[in-house]
Amino acid sequence: FSSTELTDTLLARIAQLDPQLNSFITVTAEPARAQAAAADARRASGENGALLGAPIAHKDLFCTKDVLTTCASKILHNFKAPYDATVVAKLASAGAVSLGKLNMDEFAMGSANESSHFGAVKNPWDLSRVPGGSSGGSAAAVAAGLIPAATGTDTGGSIRQPAALTNLTGLKPTYGRVSRWGMIAYASSLDQGGPLARTAEDCALLLGAMAGFDAKDSTCVDAPLDDYLAALSQPLAGLRIGLPREYFGAGLDARIAEKVLAVVEELKKLGATVKEISLPNIQHAIPAYYVIAPAEASSNLSRFDGVRFGYRCENPVNLEDLYKRSRGEGFGAEVKRRIMVGTYALSAGYYDAYYLKAQKIRRLIKNDFVAAFNEVDVILGPTTPNPAWKLGEKSGDPVSAYLEDIYTITANLAGIPGLSMPAGFVDGLPVGVQLLAPYFQEARLLNVAHQYQ
Ligand code: GLN
Repeated sequence: FSSTELTDTLLARIAQLDPQLNSFITVTAEPARAQAAAADARRASGENGALLGAPIAHKDLFCTKDVLTTCASKILHNFKAPYDATVVAKLASAGAVSLGKLNMDEFAMGSANESSHFGAVKNPWDLSRVPGGSSGGSAAAVAAGLIPAATGTDTGGSIRQPAALTNLTGLKPTYGRVSRWGMIAYASSLDQGGPLARTAEDCALLLGAMAGFDAKDSTCVDAPLDDYLAALSQPLAGLRIGLPREYFGAGLDARIAEKVLAVVEELKKLGATVKEISLPNIQHAIPAYYVIAPAEASSNLSRFDGVRFGYRCENPVNLEDLYKRSRGEGFGAEVKRRIMVGTYALSAGYYDAYYLKAQKIRRLIKNDFVAAFNEVDVILGPTTPNPAWKLGEKSGDPVSAYLEDIYTITANLAGIPGLSMPAGFVDGLPVGVQLLAPYFQEARLLNVAHQYQ
């Protein structure tokens, strides 16, 4: 069938099912039909390519020319970027058809997709539960079969955690592997875009199109790209897997531990060897992350002032009133909490005690991984300590939500790549297993996941 037929079918499915899920903020039906027709024409003229005509959608923090990019915030509810993010442009030139923009936690701050100005997203596996966050719209839309794959971003687990809670495969690439240009910044030293899809193979296809050097992002690394598809079929014989003792301790749901260890048994049958390792400093990861990420966010979000774009308050009496009320009315509660925490941590007198200390912990965590990867090829553990929780269950207690990030945020602090893949179900709810690898070894992660799948 043609991309046009597929696009029409999925647009109808979105219209029918998304009112329950709330995974899309904007559906771009007409531009999608035009892109699909163009892809069909390219195919008719002999062009090939796995993504040519493939439907996708983007997390609503990737800038899209002439289409709303809201970051799920009131402060950007009317913002249309004058350009496409590099990731958006690259996928479009590979022929992917974007059906729209996906819901998320406001400014990507959250693990439940409940902080969106456009309302919470529901988990398709149980509509009374959260899909994870912050790329919750991406995860819900793919899990419900509204689109086969989506883009997401991962600052502290926001691709891997929602993938785990919705039975998908999600990849956070090495920091610098994918351009951040046109991706609205949350915490710039941690943010990284990547794919969510059903399988490692689909993630490999998307990553191949998204990754690569971009002169517009000064932290984007000019290192050769691997052939992610070719790497999938490599046998696992001799693969050395490390199980960090700290990832299997208190706080982990025992039923998830069991599922994760069952994956390990399967990988052994494929020829892998397993040993216990230690990452002694990861106990400090959550406090360090929740200083560094808000600190960077408080700086990044200072650009939203109601002057140049986005929401502006009614009838400001002077400039200060304009700033205060535009920001006060435009940002949601979690975003304000982070701006205040971050501003405090960066202020004179507290900088050394909080921000600098957190950066030192970050280095220790990075060193833990470097040491571990001298002994093993990949590190394996659970993606999350618990399956999806009920909507509203943790919204009054932000710290209990922060604790759900315990296994994912370390990869962002160190900058290494991480992947979450389905590990089965606990009480009918999906759970994930996480794989971590040394810098720029996305191909290895996709290979292991594909061999298991
Ligand atoms: N849950 C984490 C946070 O709220 C991670 C979010 C993310 O990766 N964007 O900061």
